Amino acid sequence: MLRPYVSACKTRILTVSGTNHDDAPPDEAPALALQIIHYPHPTLRHVSRPLTRVDAELRRMVAEMFDLMYEHEGVGLAANQVDLPYRLFVANPTGNPDEKDAEAAFINPVLSGGKGQVEGEEGCLSIPGVNGMVVRNARINIEAYSLAGEEISGEVEGLMARIVQHEVDHLDGRLFIDRLTPTQLAEIRDDLEEFEIDFDSRRNTGEMPSDEAIAARLAELSRLRT
Ligand code: ZN
Repeated sequence: MLRPYVSACKTRILTVSGTNHDDAPPDEAPALALQIIHYPHPTLRHVSRPLTRVDAELRRMVAEMFDLMYEHEGVGLAANQVDLPYRLFVANPTGNPDEKDAEAAFINPVLSGGKGQVEGEEGCLSIPGVNGMVVRNARINIEAYSLAGEEISGEVEGLMARIVQHEVDHLDGRLFIDRLTPTQLAEIRDDLEEFEIDFDSRRNTGEMPSDEAIAARLAELSRLRT
């Protein structure tokens, strides 16, 4: 497996509070009960602002994101897919929770210098059961911070290149279906409509908050850490 990045301690713009050993042990930490939201939830269209602070609660959120990603057999998960307005995503191209070496959390990721074009099949945990062929750069540079506040910088390729492009799209409020051709979109139109009908019915029962309530919650969460 390709090492997805090289890590180097450089400038630190994130405030990182608490170290892993003085956090509460995982079994004493209250569960945040994050859930994966589905298309067309408006948080999936939220453009996330960079994080300025990493603390114990954020690390717990990231741990839950990894758990959810594995539970749903994904290889990447962005914060707005769990209804959080933060510029971060988690990934493990092996999809195997035992392969900890392949895991990475990327905070404030920035992509640059994409090279080559390659088509590959993508799906999304926020649109389960829907797949499509998407053209992405074959190789691309990513710069980000780790959870420890260290700079991550390097070129990724293969599946990892596809994952980082898909996840950074999420952080910009973009879904892989936005990159499909009209013909491809027509093929999945019925599936998307089912998600839309389900969303509308949850709105009608009051289970799904209004757009205004969702936006207010995101603004409050954003104010705390960005
Ligand atoms: Zn996705």
